[in-house]
Amino acid sequence: MEDLPELKTHPYPAKAESSKVAPDPLLTSVNPQTGVPEVEWITPGEQAAHTQMWYFIEGSLTDYEEDRNDPNNHALSDLSPYYHFGQLAAHRVALEIDSRPGTRTEDKNAYLEELIVRKELSDNFCFYEPQYDSFEGFPDWAKQTLNEHRDDKREHLYTPHEFEEARTHDDLWNAAQMEMVKYGKMHGFMRMYWAKKILEWTESPEEALEIGIWLNDTYELDGRDPNGYVGVAWSVGGVHDRAWPERDVYGKVRYMNYNGCKRKFDVNGYITSILGEKNPHLL
Ligand SMILES: Cc1cc2nc3c(=O)[nH]c(=O)nc-3n(C[C@H](O)[C@H](O)[C@H](O)COP(=O)(O)OP(=O)(O)OC[C@H]3O[C@@H](n4cnc5c(N)ncnc54)[C@H](O)[C@@H]3O)c2cc1C
Repeated sequence: MEDLPELKTHPYPAKAESSKVAPDPLLTSVNPQTGVPEVEWITPGEQAAHTQMWYFIEGSLTDYEEDRNDPNNHALSDLSPYYHFGQLAAHRVALEIDSRPGTRTEDKNAYLEELIVRKELSDNFCFYEPQYDSFEGFPDWAKQTLNEHRDDKREHLYTPHEFEEARTHDDLWNAAQMEMVKYGKMHGFMRMYWAKKILEWTESPEEALEIGIWLNDTYELDGRDPNGYVGVAWSVGGVHDRAWPERDVYGKVRYMNYNGCKRKFDVNGYITSILGEKNPHLL
């Protein structure tokens, strides 16, 4: 892997006044959302990003391949907020991981697959697909199958605010929503289940997409990002996925259910830890 190029001094130095920008009036002028709790478990900034990178590389990367789909194991890097805000380059992390002796190839490859392939696919999709945030951006097979299942009976229907306030019948879904609201970061595996259930419990795929993007962009620290638009579109509209056996509401879009989660991880353990205020990111 090729190293990052040397930084060059910019030919035009910044004007001295620019360092005097006061952030508070600026923040007020953009009318920030109220009601979204501030998170305290993660420290912003480039230095903190590097600390977290090394914490991950020297720690949970060792079992990343096996543990990344278990929300009870703190196996993820928690680096997405730093990537999103430009405080850490994906390229830098890829270089450090690639050149590190002693890490199992399976763990390296699994992480680099997410960081390079999945992330680049998202960036490309949002760059080249003008309809990246709408039903029209879904692949043809998915549009067709979702259209064929528009009139299927939905067993549960929720309003956007019932979703936001985690008031569904499903304790696992509610816990995932609360993880996002409280900590600004839902576990990656739960994000798939979470978005797929929004498809199942709304009147149409358009509504599901809108609610998924709205909640994701409002509450995730790493939201408002190509990975988020593609994550929701993957879950609701089969973007970068293939057709699966057909069923109600989903058509041929991949389905996920509660029992499948139970087979993969300790669902009650996850729910209890979120309800019990045990921040999974600090384990
Ligand atoms: C419905 C849904 C919504 C999502 N919303 C966002 C979002 O708003 N912002 C965001 O960055 N990611 C999003 N993702 C992708 C993924 O869940 C997160 O990148 C990951 O959970 C971030 O935590 P991490 O850095 O600890 O993950 P790690 O597993 O440590 O992953 C490392 C990095 O790889 C990249 N990556 C991992 N999974 C994916 C993926 N599926 N697609 C693209 N890149 C990936 C990210 O840059 C991530 O930071 C979403 C996925 C889904 C299914």
